[in-house]
Formats: sequence, C-alpha cells, structure tokens
Amino acid sequence: MNDETNILDYLNQAELDGIRKFMHGRKTPFLVINLKQIAKNYEELVEKLPYAKVYYAIKANPENEVIKLLFAKGSNFDVATIYEMQQLFDLGIPAERMSYGNTIKKEEDIDFAYKHGIRLFATDSITDVHKLARKAPGSKVFFRILTEGGNADWPLSRKFGGNPDMIYHLIIEAKRLGLVPYGLSFHVGSQQREIGQWDIAISQCKYLFDAVKSSGENIELKLINLGGGFPTNYVKPVQSLDVYAQEITRFLQEDFGDNLPEIIVEPGRSIAGNAGVMVSEVVMVSKKSVLNQYGWVFIDAGKFGGLIETIDESIKYPIYVEGVNSNKGGADFVLAGPTCDSMDILYEDYKYKLPESIKDGDKILILSTGAYTSTYSSVYFNGFPPLPTYIVKDWESCEEVK
Ligand SMILES: *Cc1c(COP(=O)(O)O)cnc(C)c1O
Repeated sequence: MNDETNILDYLNQAELDGIRKFMHGRKTPFLVINLKQIAKNYEELVEKLPYAKVYYAIKANPENEVIKLLFAKGSNFDVATIYEMQQLFDLGIPAERMSYGNTIKKEEDIDFAYKHGIRLFATDSITDVHKLARKAPGSKVFFRILTEGGNADWPLSRKFGGNPDMIYHLIIEAKRLGLVPYGLSFHVGSQQREIGQWDIAISQCKYLFDAVKSSGENIELKLINLGGGFPTNYVKPVQSLDVYAQEITRFLQEDFGDNLPEIIVEPGRSIAGNAGVMVSEVVMVSKKSVLNQYGWVFIDAGKFGGLIETIDESIKYPIYVEGVNSNKGGADFVLAGPTCDSMDILYEDYKYKLPESIKDGDKILILSTGAYTSTYSSVYFNGFPPLPTYIVKDWESCEEVK
C-alpha cells in the first residue's frame, strides 16, 4: 500500500501552474472542471470504439457546459429522470439524442418522455413493460440484464437488471403489447477493473439474441448497450482504454462475427473523472492520544461535500498537498471531512502518505474528481453550501467558461 506518486504523473508542470494560479485567493472547497480534458476523453473513446454510439450518462457530471460540448461533438445522452430531460431540452438538445435509461420509472414520467419525443427506453421488469406499453406505445425498448459487478470499484449490481430467463419472457411480452423489443443492455459496474466482465455479459446477450430469434415470435434484437464502467485514473492502476476497447471488440467478434449488432456505450466516469480537480484546505491536524501512531488530517471537503464515493474507501482519489510536488517520504495519515457526522471519514484503513509538516491552511488537491462529486454533494448539512464548480477551458490557462 502506497501512493507516493508524483503529482506530475497526473498533470504536467504547466497544468499544475495554471491550477495553482487559479486557486490562489479563492475560498475552498471547490471543484474545477476542464473542458479540454472532457473533449479529449470523448474523442479517445470514439476513436477506440468507432462502431459504438455514445450516450453520455449525464449524472456523472451534468454541468451545462459539459453537456453542450459533448452535444456539439455528436454525443447522445443517457437520461434517468424528467429533470435531466428538461435540462437537455432547455439546452436545445432534441429527444432523438436521448435514451431513457432508468429502469425505475413512474408512469407519468414515461408519459412526459414520450410526449417530448423520446422513443428509446430501458426496462427490466414486467410492471415497467406494461407502463411503457401504455404510455410509450411503439417505442424501442432495450432490456437490462443483471450483472454481478465483481471487481468494480463502484458496483452497480443487484439493483438493476434481470436474469436472462426472465428477460426472455419480458421480450416476448413487450412485443405482444406493441412495443419494439430492440436490444439488450448491461452495466458491468463502474470503474470496472476486470475487462472479462464484458465478456460474460456479451455472451449472455448472444444467448438471448439467439433464444428470441428462435422463439417463433418473429423478434430480432438489433442492439447491445455495453453500459459504462470504463475507467478513469485514480490511485489504483487500471489498463488503458486502448486495452479495454481491443478486448471488448474481440469479445463482440467472438460471439457475433463480423455481423455486429448496433452498439451503444454509456460512459460517465471515463468522460468526466479526470477532468476535475477539487481544491480543499486543511482545517485541522490532530492526534487522538499522546502516542498515536497516525495523525488525523481534517479537510474542508468530505463525504457530504462531494466525496461520497469514499464510502468503504471504494474510490481512492490521488491526493496531494500543494507546494510539495510529491508526497514521497511522508507520514501515514487518516483523512477526514469537516462535518459533525462520524461517518465523514474519507480514508482510515488506507493510509495516505502526506508530508509530516502538514498544517492548518495547507491546500490539498484531490485529483480525478470530475465525476460523481458535485452531484453527490449534500445541501446545507451542517450549513455547508453545495460544492461550487468552476468550468475552465484547460488547465494551463484556467480561463473560466461560465
Ligand atoms: C451511471 C450509469 C452509467 C455510467 O457509468 P460509468 O461507470 O460512470 O461510466 C451508464 N449507464 C447507466 C444506465 C448508468 O446508470
């Protein structure tokens, strides 16, 4: 266990200097999102998976500037609620660019989506299929299959999807009710480190494609939605996107030959993650007893201020104390947030190495915090305001866009 990585492994000197200038004199905590990195992440994904249509999962980071940029680049959007839909409509994004990817929906919300022109829906239960048949007749539906989420840093298993045996029956029923059974989807779990998880899920898709084809119901599935799960760079090393793309393409070809179905991907974390830097400040450094082995560092960003994915220490963000360039040779510390809730401890089992001289007022950079942070930030717990977010063109200039 160590994370004595140099900050320069994540940012080059010019980028770091830009961020330093930007944070000077600004009240912490806050998040900075770099649009250039968002664009780069999107372009890389499209380059590596040229046959896939991208539906950005906007819950990862729904800033208007992020969405406008991705829209201009040709992205589609995976929306989960009528509120996300309304945000996109307000930005002038047409319904054809959206899929209603949440399997848990009120009938009135399906009605809203359909009336606004959305014709692509996810489902995983018979009650939802019936709601869709009533409120979104004739729509294309993709059926989510259950995955285990093993080896994902942030699993999304259990809550969503159905076993293939049940999904088979949903497909048949959907067709009978006048929907268009269009394809299958899955999510292998977010920040999925084991690429073989896609292999398992794709094989299940192939099995279902064949099963419904020979059902005698005249159904031919055409789409596989590979979900999200693509990685960003935290402390724990992952394969490059290149390796993910090569492997996933190989799995698809093994099962479907050269005749690939339509492919959708729904990246969230891999688009927004490393485009964000959170700037925080040390509130207090203390010990719990005279001979305590580890000091405690309390910072002004915590579980309720956007770092909820530190639950069970799942996501380990690269963390640096400003002014040292490297945490090499530091001491092990417990890191905790500023609120009066004792679950607001960020890392206790996993000890971050921080400079022994760390003190109140030192600035802390928490890297790769562009995804699932600002949206997870609580509102006024202990009176703390929601996490302020700045959008910049690139790290070097840190020129604000909004
Ligand atoms: C959250 C979510 C995603 C995004 O997953 P990442 O692992 O962040 O890429 C994709 N699809 C669905 C249905 C989701 O709920």
